[in-house]
Amino acid sequence: MSNQFSRMNYLGADKNFADSNIVLLGLPFDGTSSYLPGSRFAPNAIRQASQALETYSPYQGQDIESLALTDVGDIELPLNNTEKVLTLIKNTAHDLLKNGKRIISLGGEHLVSLPVVEAYYDYFPDLRVIQLDAHADLRDDYLDEKLSHATVMRRIADKIGFDNLFQAGIRSGDEAEWTLGATLPHFHPYNLDAWDDYLAAIAEHPIYLTLDLDILDPGCLPGTGTPEPGGIDFNTLLDALLKLKDHNLVGADIVELNPHNDQSGCSAITAAKLVRELALLVKAFN
Ligand code: MN
Ligand code: MN
Repeated sequence: MSNQFSRMNYLGADKNFADSNIVLLGLPFDGTSSYLPGSRFAPNAIRQASQALETYSPYQGQDIESLALTDVGDIELPLNNTEKVLTLIKNTAHDLLKNGKRIISLGGEHLVSLPVVEAYYDYFPDLRVIQLDAHADLRDDYLDEKLSHATVMRRIADKIGFDNLFQAGIRSGDEAEWTLGATLPHFHPYNLDAWDDYLAAIAEHPIYLTLDLDILDPGCLPGTGTPEPGGIDFNTLLDALLKLKDHNLVGADIVELNPHNDQSGCSAITAAKLVRELALLVKAFN
């Protein structure tokens, strides 16, 4: 009888926890999703889809097997209690950072980024946050809720200040969000044209990337909670991400995959491939 047991990890993310300096953390929460809930199933869909990939990235000439990378699984979250969910995520992120880990979070809806960024900001007071997203997520409240996927970047800006938030790819928001965006220093609709200049300007800063997958065109990634036509393609996104190689990327998340909205499974594979590239881009602590 075999004594081998298996649990579904992200491909190649199987080092033991103590030796790891980069962790994948599943945050299966979709409690405020307003259109198509289902992103709670994304972390496991990404793990499953990753089995279709190679561990080697030809783009970066490196194999994720060479990383001290582990997949710690999902936090168990009470889906009907948003504030408790956020507290649990923040405490977990704090614990991981305290232990010298760098975190790549697998959402979940976009609200899960808020507690992770809050924890990072406590450790990196000169943090810069980059949001890639079709949506501004700058509402002050949404359906009378201050805590929502549609308000998440407003709440993050409350914490870190708009000067320290860069937004690109935005092509959707209400009038108040666009009016606000027009007054902001780093609000860049539609494309990534401002990317190179911004990265050059923050070369000395630790960077946190929050990647809402709906920045991609729905023709490229239909499996998301709020698809928005007019997005960028995969290679445009990947080329931009690869430019983070020479920067101090200290953490990232990948949110809003809704695997049930893409029967082909291609959206989950796209997300899984981006996770592989991000794992190779995050700078380990030691
Ligand atoms: Mn978003
Ligand atoms: Mn979005």
